[in-house]
Amino acid sequence: MSDRVVIVGGGVIGAMCAWYLSDAGLRVTVVDRGKFGSACSHGNCGYVSPSHVLPLTRPGQVAASLREMFKKNSSFAVKPRFNRDSLAWFWKFGRRCNERDMLDAAQGRHAMLQSSKRLYQELVAREDIDCEWKEAGLLFVFDHEKGFEEYGKTDRLLRDRFGVGATPYDGQQLVELEPALKPGLGGAWHYEGDCHLRPDKLMDSLRTKLESRGVDFIEDAAVERFVVEHGKAKAVVAGGVQISADRFVVATGAWTPFLNEHLGCRIPIEPGKGYSLTMPTPARMPQIPIVFDDAHVAVTPMQRKYRIGSTMEFVGYDATLNRKRLELLKTSAKKYLHDPYCDPVEEQWFGWRPMTWDGKPIIDVSPAMSNVWIAAGHNMLGISMATGTGKLIRELMLNQQPHVDAAHFSIARLR
Ligand SMILES: Cc1cc2nc3c(=O)[nH]c(=O)nc-3n(C[C@H](O)[C@H](O)[C@H](O)COP(=O)(O)OP(=O)(O)OC[C@H]3O[C@@H](n4cnc5c(N)ncnc54)[C@H](O)[C@@H]3O)c2cc1C
Repeated sequence: MSDRVVIVGGGVIGAMCAWYLSDAGLRVTVVDRGKFGSACSHGNCGYVSPSHVLPLTRPGQVAASLREMFKKNSSFAVKPRFNRDSLAWFWKFGRRCNERDMLDAAQGRHAMLQSSKRLYQELVAREDIDCEWKEAGLLFVFDHEKGFEEYGKTDRLLRDRFGVGATPYDGQQLVELEPALKPGLGGAWHYEGDCHLRPDKLMDSLRTKLESRGVDFIEDAAVERFVVEHGKAKAVVAGGVQISADRFVVATGAWTPFLNEHLGCRIPIEPGKGYSLTMPTPARMPQIPIVFDDAHVAVTPMQRKYRIGSTMEFVGYDATLNRKRLELLKTSAKKYLHDPYCDPVEEQWFGWRPMTWDGKPIIDVSPAMSNVWIAAGHNMLGISMATGTGKLIRELMLNQQPHVDAAHFSIARLR
C-alpha cells in the first residue's frame, strides 16, 4: 500500500503539490479550512510571468514606498501591526533593498519561474487542463516617455543576467500593437514569453482531475495542530478530528504563521492584501494582459470575462472589502483604456498574498517534524510558481534530485 499524504491548504500551491504527489503514486488528501481554491488563488490576475524576476526589495524601494504611502489615491498602504514578527518583517524587508540582495533573490525566483512555465506548458498540453491558457505575453505600459526610457536599464539587466528581454514599443507603435489603449502614452515593454490563465478555472479543472485520480478533499476543516511522536507527525487535528497520514505538506499561504508553534520555526509571512474586479468583456478589450507601471494596476483579458486587479495593503488580516480601493481600480484604468470597465461588475474580491521579506517562497522540511514539508510564501507569484513548487516538493519528499536549487527556498536562509 502506498504512503498517504495530507496536504493542509487547498490553494494553487496545495493543488499543484497534490498533482505531483498523486502522479508519483501517493494517496493524497487535501484539507482546507474553507473551500478548495477559494482564497488568494481564486480572483488574482492569472499571470504566469517569467518576467517578474526582480523582487520588491530593490535599491530605493523603501523611499519609493514611503512616497507612495503619502500619495493621494495610492495603491499602496501600510498599517503596521505592533508585534515582534511583523516589525521584524518590515525591518528585514528594508535591509534587503540593495543590489546584492535583490540579485540574490532574483536568481531563485528566475529558476522557479522558468521551470514553472515549462511545466505549465507540458501540463496544459498533456492533461487538457481547462484554464484558458494563453501565450500572449505581458505589456508593461508607462505614462510618460521618461519612465519608458528609464525602464530600459531594468530591461538590460534582465536580458543580460537572466536572458529575459522585452520588445520596446514607443507611444505610437503601442496603439498599433494594442488598440484598446488610448493614444498619448509614453510607451511599453512587451515580455513575449509571459503567459496567462484564468485562475478559478484552473482550480476547478485541477479539482476534477485530482478527484479522478483518487485525491480526497476535506473542506471547512481548519487544521489546529499536529499529533507528533518521536519527531514525526502522525496526524493533523481539525475540529477535534484526527486525520492520519505518513507525510504532510503545509501549503497554507498567508495563514502559515498561525502554525509556527507546531512547525518549529518562525515563518516570516505578512498578508499583502490585493483586490480585483471581474466584469463581462468590454467592447474594446485588450488582447494582451497589461501592467500599468505608474498606477500599479493590472488587467487580464479572459474568454468571456475581464479583470482589473492590484493594490498592496499591509494591514494585517483585515477581511473588509474596501470600496475605495475597488473604485480606485476603475478610475486608474480609465486613464489608459478606451473601455476601462464594463458593467455589471460580477465579482468584487480581495486576497491575502503570502509575502516573505526576501520575495522568495519557503519550500523545505519543517525543523520540528521530519515528515512535514512547508510550501508557502509565494508572494505575488503563487500562480506563476505553482507547478515548479509542486514538483520540488515531490523531489524533496521522495529524495529525488531537485530540478532547481532547493537552497534558494530553504528555511535556513531566513535566520
Ligand atoms: C490582486 C492579486 C493579484 C494577483 N495576481 C497574480 C498573478 O497574476 N500571478 C501570480 O502568479 N500570482 C498572483 N497573485 C498572487 C497569488 O494569488 C498567490 O501568490 C497565490 O494564490 C498563493 O497561493 P497559496 O496556495 O499559497 O495560498 P491560498 O490560495 O491563499 O491558499 C491557502 C489555503 O490554505 C487554507 N488554509 C490556511 N490555513 C489553514 C489551516 N490551518 N487548515 C486548513 N486550511 C488552511 C486556506 O483556506 C486557503 O484555501 C495575486 C494576488 C492578488 C491578491
